[in-house]
Parts: sequence; C-alpha cells; structure tokens
Amino acid sequence: MSDIYLFDVDGTLTLPKSKMDATFAKNFLHWMQGREVYIVSGGSFTRLIDQLGTAVIDQVGGVFACMGNVFYQKREQINYSGMNEWQIIYENKFVAPRNLTRSLNSCVSKSDYHTKTGNHYEERVGMLNFSIVGRTATPEQRADYAAYDAEHGEREKIVDKLKNKYDQLDFVIGGAVSIDIFNSGNDKSQVIERYFSQSLEHNNIHFVGDRTTFPGNDYSLAIALEQHTNGYSYSVESWQDTAKLLKTEAFA
Ligand SMILES: [Mg+2]
Repeated sequence: MSDIYLFDVDGTLTLPKSKMDATFAKNFLHWMQGREVYIVSGGSFTRLIDQLGTAVIDQVGGVFACMGNVFYQKREQINYSGMNEWQIIYENKFVAPRNLTRSLNSCVSKSDYHTKTGNHYEERVGMLNFSIVGRTATPEQRADYAAYDAEHGEREKIVDKLKNKYDQLDFVIGGAVSIDIFNSGNDKSQVIERYFSQSLEHNNIHFVGDRTTFPGNDYSLAIALEQHTNGYSYSVESWQDTAKLLKTEAFA
C-alpha cells in the first residue's frame, strides 16, 4: 500500500493567485522526492506553472487544472529542446445555458459592492469563473472584496440564487473573490472517477485543500475521498499550515 498526495494550489500551496514562497517551494520539492504528487486546482495550467514554478511542476505525476476539467501529464520522452512535453489526457467542454451570462450581469449590477472593474467572467476549460469585483481588480481591490464578502456572505447568496435557477449547473466558491460554474459533477471530485478510482483500491490517497467545507471548491473531492476507506482529506488555512502538515505522520 503506497501513498498518493493531491494538493489544491490557491490558499493551500500559495497565497491566492500568487507565486509559491521560495523557501516553501524548496522544502516542498525536497518533500516530493520519491512521492507520487498531483495538483488539483481551479486555475489554468499556464497560471499553475507560473505560481508553482517549473521545478515543482516537473516533479508532479500530473496536473488537474480548471477544477479537474482538463488533465495534463508529461510524455515519457523529452523533446529536441530538452524540455519535457506535456499532453492533455482529457478535457471537458462547458456550454453555458441560455441566459446564464445575463443572470451573471444582473448579479453584478444588483450587487451593493462599490467597486466593479469589468471582465466579470472568464471561460476556462469545462467551466466559467465569475466575480463581482472583476478580473482586472488590483490585489488591494481583491483583498477589499474578500473582506466585504466575509462580512456579507455575498458569494454564498449569489450561489443560492443561481443554483435555484440553473439546477443543471454547480456553483462553488473558489479562490478569494470568485465563483466557479460548471456542469453538475464536473467539479474536483471528477478526478477520482476519471483517474484514481483503481488506485484508491490499493493506495492511500491524501488531499490537502483550503476550501473543503460546502460550498468550497475542495468540498466535493474531500467528501468523495472521506467516503472511501483509503481516502483522507486535510483542511488548511494557508500554505504555512500545509508546510506544518508535511511534517506530520501521514506525510512522513
Ligand atoms: Mg484553494
């Protein structure tokens, strides 16, 4: 019986949307040696490379980007430039139902939050990422919205409202300011069914995330693992928590 480790990125290995702390990256790389490690994030592959750095990315068994809607793995051979090539193993499509963008625009205009910077939704593979503050917000504006949301629970209210209207879709709160939208079931838990269901019979699978409670974007995967004898989930609040967790027995 061996161990397989899955990690969320934003809020778990890095500050949201930020690069990994250099010292932690070094320690994490060291910890990864000889271990089977995968990334399961809401972010896109290019953003994840930027956040984690190529040294870490090169050591992982695979990267589930965009909530597990696209899976990247390295080819066995290296190409002429000496770089490893990555290939897409599977990819889901998200087709927005009629009127969804209209509903999202209406959420933006009805929100009492004072700053709206435009670009409120972005299509990613298999999903849509939505925020009231907008994608062009500065880090300060994002932090301000995160504080507003913590006080007013705006994202949870929006999720409730949209879920009632679009029951074929799932809405989860991810990152510091956004809501991820996808076809029901195309959440992080899909990585079990699509890739790890056999491994789970003969290995322990550990998942570390910062949003493992409902309606967080790590919840579906955490629950799916906890329902299995060989599955374990761990909730952290920061990469510093994760650094401490790596020194505990389950990660030894
Ligand atoms: Mg996270």
